[in-house]
Amino acid sequence: MHIFALNCGSSSVKSALIDTSTRQRLFAARVENLGAPGADLQAAVAKVLQDLHEHGAPDAIAHRIVHGGERFVQATRIDDAVLEQIEKLSHLAPLHNPPALAAVRLARSAYPQTPHIAIFDTAFHATLPGHAREYALPADLRQRFGIRRYGFHGISHAHVMATVAVKLGADADQLRIVSCHLGNGASAAAIERGRSVDTSMGMTPLEGLVMGTRAGDLDPGILLDLLQSRDLDAAAVDEVLNKKSGLTGLAGTNDVREIERRATAGDERCRLALAIYSYRVRKYIGAYAAVMGGADAIAFTGGVGENSASIREACLQRLEFLGATVDARANRNVHLDDVSPCCEISQPGARTRILVVRADEELAMALETASATSSS
Ligand code: ADP
Repeated sequence: MHIFALNCGSSSVKSALIDTSTRQRLFAARVENLGAPGADLQAAVAKVLQDLHEHGAPDAIAHRIVHGGERFVQATRIDDAVLEQIEKLSHLAPLHNPPALAAVRLARSAYPQTPHIAIFDTAFHATLPGHAREYALPADLRQRFGIRRYGFHGISHAHVMATVAVKLGADADQLRIVSCHLGNGASAAAIERGRSVDTSMGMTPLEGLVMGTRAGDLDPGILLDLLQSRDLDAAAVDEVLNKKSGLTGLAGTNDVREIERRATAGDERCRLALAIYSYRVRKYIGAYAAVMGGADAIAFTGGVGENSASIREACLQRLEFLGATVDARANRNVHLDDVSPCCEISQPGARTRILVVRADEELAMALETASATSSS
């Protein structure tokens, strides 16, 4: 099938027309660093859809939707009622769901006869057991407001699982995998025998690892202090949490290459930022190995996970007790492409294999859409 995958983030549009039988991209378009929300993004999507026309009508269009709430736990064909229900979840992912919905509307009017399928970033984590899913908050609040851990980056973590299984020549349901998606946003997932059993992002994409502009785990008392005693209102705290924290807060930029350059040149602030970042990843790897009673594989993906050998090395320090020993040379020589989307960096014979996987959300969305539409 020819599936067009449309992946609209808060500031970027990534898209690809994919032949799912050969996995080849017939057409691809990326627009990044979209500044002002709304108008820019809509214009970019309109242009991408116009360019798509030259390649004939796709069999289906896949849309990445970040938050599917409790209701959407699998790929879902979009109609007016589904669209309305997704709209109601926008408050849970205010940066991500609204632009994706705007793109869905444009694509539906450009391709009214084509099936449009929503692929949810939360769906892969629908299998979280109660003890990983629930926060220790009063039951009535949790129930009334749908407060629970949903988890994100599910499309990417599911793709990591499938790719690692192929690389290790095993079925996913035989493996315990710690998947680390380290991009601008970052999350870890514990994937036990084909199911997500824990993940570091929670009700919203703010929890867990240190990210480009988000702090990840925090003492919630800090928020109370900022709101009650330091003259910051809710909008200012929102800005701090979503835009000014994480690597940006620690090092003044979210560009990891720049932080690495400055750290190498002796900048203490950047050294500390990288140490905090890697330490947090290592804590989650250890925790998730404990959750699963061990790990058969630890996998890195995303812009940082795929490209930064020094961050991978730092994240993997002191994990020898798990049988995860890094081959320093293999780690420095990772090369990923269409033919080899997965590279091993553990020492030969390591009990826990360490892998680097190329993130490819568009391919994962297209494959899932092909299987959802052919089985419906
Ligand atoms: P997004 O989450 O927006 O899709 P990406 O997965 O593309 O983002 O990751 C973006 C991050 O990857 C940025 O912090 C960027 O600095 C980092 N990155 C990209 N290339 C490299 C590299 N060669 N070395 C280190 N970090 C890199």
